[in-house]
Amino acid sequence: MPPGPGYRPAPVWPALQPNFSDVVRPATFPRPTLRFRNHRAAAEIGLDALDEAEWLHHFGALSPLPRNLQEPLALRYHGHQFQSYNPWLGDGRGFLFAQLLDDAGRVMDLGTKGSGTTPFSRGGDGRLTLKGAVREILATEMLQALGVRTSRTLSVVETGESLVRHDEPSPTRAAVLVRLSWSHVRFGTFQRHAWERSPQRLRALLHFTVDSWFPELAEVPEPDLVPRFLDTVVDRSAALVAQWTMAGFVHGVLNTDNMNVTGESFDYGPWRFLPTYDPDFTAAYFDHGSLYAFGKQADAVFWNLCRLAEALVSISEAPALEAALTTFEDRARAHACTQLLARLGVQGTTEAADQALLTTSFAFLGSSQLPYERLFFDWFGGEAARPRAEAGSFARWYAGADFEAFRASLFAHPSAAGDRLAHPYFGDEHPRTMLIDEMEALWAPIAQDDDWGPLDEAIRQIRRMGEALGLTPL
Ligand code: AMP
Ligand code: MG
Repeated sequence: MPPGPGYRPAPVWPALQPNFSDVVRPATFPRPTLRFRNHRAAAEIGLDALDEAEWLHHFGALSPLPRNLQEPLALRYHGHQFQSYNPWLGDGRGFLFAQLLDDAGRVMDLGTKGSGTTPFSRGGDGRLTLKGAVREILATEMLQALGVRTSRTLSVVETGESLVRHDEPSPTRAAVLVRLSWSHVRFGTFQRHAWERSPQRLRALLHFTVDSWFPELAEVPEPDLVPRFLDTVVDRSAALVAQWTMAGFVHGVLNTDNMNVTGESFDYGPWRFLPTYDPDFTAAYFDHGSLYAFGKQADAVFWNLCRLAEALVSISEAPALEAALTTFEDRARAHACTQLLARLGVQGTTEAADQALLTTSFAFLGSSQLPYERLFFDWFGGEAARPRAEAGSFARWYAGADFEAFRASLFAHPSAAGDRLAHPYFGDEHPRTMLIDEMEALWAPIAQDDDWGPLDEAIRQIRRMGEALGLTPL
């Protein structure tokens, strides 16, 4: 069956050719097997009616979608990795596969990971491990449920190849993943054209990006456009940091090539969720200096925004860009309050009271070392949650000066939970979490017995949590 009426192709990227991407070919895979199909995401882009053979044809064999890109494009970009500039980046194991409109009329990208080598592979094999794909499914499902603006995992097809990796027991199985993203314009996409000293291409990229993904800037007069664009990216990035913080999420690799100008979180490698509040908690084993530790994510994102501003300076004025950058700190604090209120299911009151809730929440999380998600689970809805929290298995944790300060701040905020507290999720013994051991426990049956049941069940549980929390980031 061809895609349904909800399928609205919008292949805008080729308007930028050449110099922004390279035509590439997908690898051919020996034994494609469908492992994950995101029906919910597919429905948003009109691809939910595909049968399994058609799904494999498009997302396993990577045959083009009708009226869409007829050849995949490896996107060109540079970036700072751990603060060192790398001009040898680019889509080395993925490409832009298709672009289409979603339900909300946004231009969405289908991008691949593990689809074969490209001119940017630089000695890499262009492949993705199946475990890496499973980890990306879990990160995206969890983040979406916790109200973080994130790319979604649309499809995972096991390829039948085996790979050797130094950081996984090898040989290990391989997969090709298709992600649904709100653009793939990275900070590093701009950096590349600044590094090549091409204001003309920077301007073309800016206009293309604004036309495709920033409709709110469509009427902005030319001299203001670059600062207004940066200002919007600053705001969205500050919101994203706040969302990660309240989800207890450590991305792990906040390089400028892993930052999307739309403010959508993507590219999940060595991510972790916090067991308990610890600003020094570091996700990537190769992040020796803890540059991207939990408590440093705001600094890392700000540093990246400064590099984006530098890339834009040749087509704008430095003071206007600096003015946009200086808003980051206040915005980060304001977004942190908003996101905290949302996660605790309470209404904002005065700025001072909201700020006090932020301070007391983290003081309590820090001194008590209460499991991170437990605070949000037990106290969702504010005072209305009290009987549940006091009858729950963590009741004895709710005492002492830091708790009392948190409780007083929380109870000063009226509930915003409405009927969400009636969701059966809140009757569970424990919140749904995805700590490293839980992730490994979902992977083990796949590795040992090819048993996908536990993963499927976890995804159902995560979505159920998402339904209960009712946090919609889009
Ligand atoms: P990442 O750390 O996943 O954001 O990737 C950084 C850079 O390395 C990007 O240019 C990727 O395309 C490239 N890369 C990562 N893994 C591979 C691989 N297995 N083969 C080729 N290129 C890769
Ligand atoms: Mg990347």
